[in-house]
Amino acid sequence: MKSSYQNQTKMVHGGVRRSYFGEVSEAIFMTQSYIYDTAENAEIRFQNSGEDEFIYSRYGNPTVAMFEDRMALLEGAEDCFATASGMAAVNGALASCLTAGDHVVASKALFGSCLYILEQILPKFGVEVTFVDGPDVTSWKRAFKANTKVCFFESMSNPNLELVDIPKVVEIAHSYGALVVVDNVFTTPVFSNAIELGVDVVVYSATKHIDGQGRALGGVVLGKKDFIRNTVEPYMKHTGSSMSPFNAWIMLKGLETIELRVKAQAKSAFKISQFLETSSEIKKVIYPGLQSNSQHELAKQITSGFGTVTTFEFIKGKKAAFKFLNNLDIIILSNNLGDAKSIATHPATTTHQRLSEKQKEDLLIGDGLIRLSVGLEDTDDLINDVSSALTTL
Ligand SMILES: *Cc1c(COP(=O)(O)O)cnc(C)c1O
Repeated sequence: MKSSYQNQTKMVHGGVRRSYFGEVSEAIFMTQSYIYDTAENAEIRFQNSGEDEFIYSRYGNPTVAMFEDRMALLEGAEDCFATASGMAAVNGALASCLTAGDHVVASKALFGSCLYILEQILPKFGVEVTFVDGPDVTSWKRAFKANTKVCFFESMSNPNLELVDIPKVVEIAHSYGALVVVDNVFTTPVFSNAIELGVDVVVYSATKHIDGQGRALGGVVLGKKDFIRNTVEPYMKHTGSSMSPFNAWIMLKGLETIELRVKAQAKSAFKISQFLETSSEIKKVIYPGLQSNSQHELAKQITSGFGTVTTFEFIKGKKAAFKFLNNLDIIILSNNLGDAKSIATHPATTTHQRLSEKQKEDLLIGDGLIRLSVGLEDTDDLINDVSSALTTL
């Protein structure tokens, strides 16, 4: 695969391992283990298996390897490890490189399970965590210490789509010798410039845009070859967070169309956001692609697109938000995102229900807030759906 090819070409052909049958569509290698020609050969493989020499599918598998290589091409990363879910990727990226006595700085606006790892699990193993206000660079500056080993944040937060100034935080972190680990789900691998901006480790829930069609769970950790193979891989393969070959195949096929899907979804998300801004029922619309967005200039610097999610808040709070949700016809109510189907969510009573009132207030997750993950339906149909749900409030 020539490195000069564009991503769309790499996503169709990258990483392929063709068996001697010459199949066109990538094979699903549903096998737990692998046969050795001789006893000597088995001994050698167990000592040091080379590239594409597999011994057990918790350690590695040809279909999973195809997905990992294709994913590394998309992100522009040296290497990739695929995991059973997005959370296995987040946990593995952090736990594999932290030791008791280390300190972590993290933004406070995090996906619920990420917050659980940082608040509940890591401290049990003697890792200290300081939470900061993601968009506020000075709060990052104040939090770093001599023993800060990792800094962790979502490049675009859920559900308020707040951005972190990646180049500035990278500069601070690297001056302390800390690793920058980014959960990049909302930015998407299509629009990500994370590696170019100096991020060391990029994590995705493949469950979102990489599958993109609501079928399977998965995750990836991307970064330097040495980190992926010598830090992440030993942790993952011994703790059992590897991706199933079948799920890897779904994700591999998802990558063939990810650029087309995500660009179309982002285009619709922008148009819907513009339409929402014209409604008198809505207090604010948050989409980094809008001129009115306070982080619009930063967004242009750190991503090549503005994502597929738009968030908005009703003036009349929960009552209006629920009525709006119940009025929708095409857009479904669920809690996933990045799907071909448009999905509306009321974070305060679902994805973020567990948070205290104080935390919700702090994270600006109000009763009137709706998160809309824009899918692949016709844009005008979606705008009409939103429009009629608004008019009958
Ligand atoms: C969904 C999500 C995860 C977790 O991914 P799973 O595949 O559900 O385990 C982590 N971070 C963010 C930002 C997410 O949206």
